[in-house]
Parts: sequence; structure tokens; C-alpha cells
Amino acid sequence: MEKDFLKSKLHNHNKRITPQREAVYNALLNDKNHPSAEEIHKGIIDKFPNLSLATVYQILNMFENELNLVKSIIVDNTKHYEIDSQFHVHLICPECNQIRDIYSDKIKSFWENLVHELEINPKDQTIKIYQVCTDCDKKLKKKLEFNF
Ligand SMILES: [Zn+2]
Ligand SMILES: [Zn+2]
Repeated sequence: MEKDFLKSKLHNHNKRITPQREAVYNALLNDKNHPSAEEIHKGIIDKFPNLSLATVYQILNMFENELNLVKSIIVDNTKHYEIDSQFHVHLICPECNQIRDIYSDKIKSFWENLVHELEINPKDQTIKIYQVCTDCDKKLKKKLEFNF
């Protein structure tokens, strides 16, 4: 079904479905950890040895800007991609850059009210919350112990 979704999206924009475009889309379907273009490229290079990183970027740009199929967030100066889904908040660890999705109706309505109240129409609806993850928290505490 999701494969057909890509097909119809491409078709509606007069674009061909290619195995490469399909592979990038499938990589995003299978990896919910907000992969970067490099990570997607690494994951599919075995199947497409001639596929360049630049082409992966081109495909992702098209998916994001023309088809509105994927969204990106910038973490640590790197673009990370995900299939466009419901509104959610990103919880990001500033130590290891792990990105977690938080779905909350409360935050969603807060956000919608804010947009309404300020009469703005933001292009980027990403809310980022930075919090050290539990793994890094443990490591940091260990480091502190050693320093004393
Ligand atoms: Zn972390
Ligand atoms: Zn996300």
C-alpha cells in the first residue's frame, strides 16, 4: 500500500517511479530513527553500487519539497529525514544526537493555538526539545565521579 502511495505521488507530479526512488522511500519506511542522507545511502549502496550520495540528496529534496512526502530536521548540522506523519515533537539528546518522536495531543493543540494566536504560517513545524538521554546521563555521571 505504501509502495502504491509513492507511485501515485510520483505520478501526480509527472515523475517516473525508479528503483532508486523506491529504495530511498523504503529505507525511510524501514528506519524510524531519522536517518541522514549518508545513512540512507550506506543502507542501499549494496543494491545500487552506482548510486551516488548526490542522487540520494536529489531524491530526498524532491520527496521533501515537491512531493511533501518526507520531512527533515537539522540536528548537529546534519539533515535527518522521516516520512511525513502526524504532528510530533522531537526529543534530542545533545550528547549523542539521538532523536526520539513524542506524540502528544496537548502539545499539538498548544501549537495550533499558538500559530492561530500569532497569526503565523510556519513552514517548519518542528519543535525540538533537548534533553540528555538516559544512556548519556549515566556516562556523564560516571565522568563526574572520576573527576572528583
Ligand atoms: Zn544520548
Ligand atoms: Zn520525527
